[in-house]
Amino acid sequence: MSVYLSPLLRAVEPYVPGEQPRDRRYVKLNTNESPYPPSPAVLEAAERAAGSLNLYCDPTALRLREAAAEAFGVSADMVLPVNGSDEILNFAFMAYGHAGIAVPDISYGFYAVLAELHRVHRREIPLRPDFSIDHRDWLNLGRTAVLANPNAPTGLALPLSEVEEIVASNRENVVVIDEAYVDFGAGSAVSLTKKYDNLLVTRTFSKSHSLAGARLGFGIASPGLIADLTAVKDSTNPYNVNAVTQAAGIAAFGDNDYYMANCRAVAAQRDRTAARLRELGFEVTDSRANFLFARHPGVSGGELYEKLRERGILVRHFSAAPIAEYNRVTVGTGEQMDVFVRAVEEILA
Ligand SMILES: *Cc1c(COP(=O)(O)O)cnc(C)c1O
Repeated sequence: MSVYLSPLLRAVEPYVPGEQPRDRRYVKLNTNESPYPPSPAVLEAAERAAGSLNLYCDPTALRLREAAAEAFGVSADMVLPVNGSDEILNFAFMAYGHAGIAVPDISYGFYAVLAELHRVHRREIPLRPDFSIDHRDWLNLGRTAVLANPNAPTGLALPLSEVEEIVASNRENVVVIDEAYVDFGAGSAVSLTKKYDNLLVTRTFSKSHSLAGARLGFGIASPGLIADLTAVKDSTNPYNVNAVTQAAGIAAFGDNDYYMANCRAVAAQRDRTAARLRELGFEVTDSRANFLFARHPGVSGGELYEKLRERGILVRHFSAAPIAEYNRVTVGTGEQMDVFVRAVEEILA
């Protein structure tokens, strides 16, 4: 860092994304991408849109908002498309961080980074020892709540009734439900945005819709919250979703059956792989997401990570003490999971 950097930014420890190494081919199970390519219609739409890249994109992303609104069952003024859902989280911290935030003590690492960046007071609410969230800890918080459902990296989901209790008991503040993984088998709170004007649901096309590289996410909320967040967007990056991504997103909404079939295939591989890992002696959380979170009494989290890496298999290991014995393994295709399981069997043997 240079001597010129703001003293306030010096203290911020940036988010460290999972590796995207180019040195060799890996079985890449470390950043929760979809193993499946975008649908042909999405590729075609992206290519067509690329022909107009000399022009600015629509800053209101109107057609994309309309497609999203129809898919989510809300009106177009209840959707804000963003440059990956990390961007809507950033906007939400800017717009609602002044109230202070509450986050689970084990969750998506970006929340803590954004809190530091925007100098938002952060209260960490402990998970239970089994990593589940006790929703009663989240009632009447008196501050902005930020919860991933399913949570990351545990994969555990709260039932919708408990999410609703949290939202209903915090009417003085905004509740952000990060649904990055909801398409893999949890209940979505999107319909509650019509009932509660303090609820912001965030979605991403990075995991379930094979568009991680295109950067596309959504905020879904009451028209009032969306107006707030749109003002933040227009004050930071009015053209936040580029033309190719807007076109790809519209086409992806048109191909929902393809993506939902992919999500079901991933969920089936997840459950099959979890069962096999349990047979091998792993403790595996009941993940509703497109990843598994597992530890083994016979091999440390760091060692398993390294030995898989030597065999060309990348998973995600977090060194924070309470989860250092675990690895987070993205669920890929059946063949990828077979390669992963065989490598694990070898390492244990
Ligand atoms: C991956 C992820 C995101 C962000 O995804 P984008 O690629 O920025 O859309 C947000 N929240 C959680 C919990 C995630 O795992």
